[in-house]
Amino acid sequence: MSDHTSVAQPSTTKPTTTKARKARRRELLSVGADPKTVKGEAFGFLTGILYLAPAMLSGRNMCSHATDGCREVCLNTSGKGALSSVQTARIAKTHAFTADLSGFMETLAADIDALERKAARLSMRPLGRLNGTSDTPWENIPVRGKRNIMAAFPRVTFYDYTKNPARMRRFLAARNWPSNYVLTFSRSECNQADALAVLRAGGNVAIPFSTRKGAALPASWFGFPVVDGDVSDARPDDSRGVVIGLRAKGKAKHDTSGFVVRVTCATCDAPIRPEDGARDCDACLDARDDAVWAAEEAAEEAAREAEGPEPDPYDAWLDRVSSLRGAA
Ligand code: SF4
Repeated sequence: MSDHTSVAQPSTTKPTTTKARKARRRELLSVGADPKTVKGEAFGFLTGILYLAPAMLSGRNMCSHATDGCREVCLNTSGKGALSSVQTARIAKTHAFTADLSGFMETLAADIDALERKAARLSMRPLGRLNGTSDTPWENIPVRGKRNIMAAFPRVTFYDYTKNPARMRRFLAARNWPSNYVLTFSRSECNQADALAVLRAGGNVAIPFSTRKGAALPASWFGFPVVDGDVSDARPDDSRGVVIGLRAKGKAKHDTSGFVVRVTCATCDAPIRPEDGARDCDACLDARDDAVWAAEEAAEEAAREAEGPEPDPYDAWLDRVSSLRGAA
């Protein structure tokens, strides 16, 4: 199932044909068409994921805590996101969200209805991931007379990643937080202190590492165990107080911002401690410093040679004495 270019609108009439019903269901949520969430099907999860236009792409900021590093490597343009039609659809959905929130939520609720029915037919557990490429506080948006979509669908488990520390704190405090909405904090190059605070408070933190496909992730990060987040995107059943390790993919493989935590030196591939937050190993940094120092020395030497030999001060004194005698 792919994203559609049509803008979500509140439906005033019931779709009459099966085709029309299916077309309507596909307006917002993507189900079973996403390599990220489809892995969960092997574990009995059926995930509906919503992709909006991230950060300021639509003209409205959908990621309050986006960073230069995450915007640069955002998965928004990976996979089908590389198609201009998909980008157009995500922007259209975001405009619909902005222009008519209650209509948008009604359409989303209809999609969740469909997800729930399909999961029941397939004897699977329905999961909703509404921030596929956004960081929207869904817990604050009412729908169908309920406080939020989680309350409207108590049999669906929702989960999301967030870079918003205030949302994460509310989730961890579990006060007025929907019991069927699970958040995982997302580390960036700017929020390491928040990430560590979340782990200490028993929350989970997702971290992209420079680990190659097929290679083992680090066993721990600052003493917190790392679990393999690439096995499945379904986060609701994760243990608590763990790092969700992800292998950098697509543009993230070339990250230079520090968003991706390096486990090997970018220059020589020697192992480095992920906690160091370094891009290169000490040996390569030293070698680079030495090369810079040698280049500066060589440039100074070349400049000295270009200026020619320094004048002898004794010759200068003799010249001065001669000129004074001539004047006398
Ligand atoms: S916060 Fe997430 S969705 Fe938003 S720009 Fe960053 S990586 Fe993309």
